Amino acid sequence: MKRRLSVTNHDRDVAGFTYVYPVVSRRAGGVSIGVNLNPNNACNWRCAYCQVPDLVRGAAPPIELPLLARELGELLTLARDPAWLSANAPEGARRVVDVAISGNGEPTTCTNLDEVLGAVLETISSHGPPGPLAKVIISNGSMIDRPAVKRALTRWNDADGEVWFKVDAGTEALRQRINGTSQSDARTHKLLHLCCGLARTRIQTCVVTWDGEPPCDAERAAYIKFLRDAISGGARVHDVLLYGIARESHQPEAARIDHPGEAWIRDYGAELERALDLTVHVRS
Ligand code: SF4
Repeated sequence: MKRRLSVTNHDRDVAGFTYVYPVVSRRAGGVSIGVNLNPNNACNWRCAYCQVPDLVRGAAPPIELPLLARELGELLTLARDPAWLSANAPEGARRVVDVAISGNGEPTTCTNLDEVLGAVLETISSHGPPGPLAKVIISNGSMIDRPAVKRALTRWNDADGEVWFKVDAGTEALRQRINGTSQSDARTHKLLHLCCGLARTRIQTCVVTWDGEPPCDAERAAYIKFLRDAISGGARVHDVLLYGIARESHQPEAARIDHPGEAWIRDYGAELERALDLTVHVRS
C-alpha cells in the first residue's frame, strides 16, 4: 500500500488485491474493508448512477476462495497495524469499522455465496480486530430467493451481519429507468419480505435528479406506498438509508443525473420518517 487513502479515493484496486480493498470513511470514523465479488464488473442490473466503469450485464465469476481469504486476512492484519493506519488514514479514522460485501456488481449473483461468506466470517474471526465488527452485504436484493443466497444470509445473520437492500423507486417504470431492471413490484415485495426474515435489513435508496428534476410528488408518494405495502404485508424493515450520488456515474445517462442537494435529501428524509414511522438515516 503506497497511497494514502482518502474519502474520495475508493478505487477497488488501490491495494493491488483482486477481491479486497480499503476505504477510509470520515463519516464512519474509520477504515471499511470492502470485499468485491465482481472483479469482472458484471451486474444483473444497470443503474443509471452506477460508478462501475465498463459495467457489463452478467454475474460474479467463480471466486478463488483461498485467494479471497488470504487477501482479506492480509488487509485485516495491515489495518490493525498502527504504522499502516497512521500512514494511510487521517487522525480520527485509524481503526477498522466494518467489512462490507460491496463491489463492482451484484454480490448475490455469486453462485456459492454461502461458502464465500463462510470464508469471510472465518477470516474476520481469525484476523479481525478484537471486539465486534459491523458486517454488511450491499445488494440489489434481486437474488435473495436463490438457495445459496438464503443459506448465506442465514449464516451472515448468525454472525450479526446485516443486508442493505436497494429500493430506489416505488414503481416498475421508475425502477426500469433508474436501475435498468424489469423486476415487478410483486417480486420486489416478495424478495424484501424474504430478506427481512433472513437478516436485519436496511433499505438503501439512492435519490438523483433526472434532467434537473428531483423525484416529483407522485414519485415520492409511490415510493412511500411501496414501502408501506411491504411493511403492512409483514416485511420487518429495520431502517432506511437515503443518500445522493457521491461519485460520478460511468453509465451513458451520467449527463442526465445529478445530486439533488443536501437540503433536498434532508427534507425528503424527514418526509419519509413521518410517513413510514421508520428511522431514516440521511447520507447526503
Ligand atoms: S446494482 Fe449496484 S453494481 Fe449493479 S448496476 Fe446498480 S449500482 Fe451498479
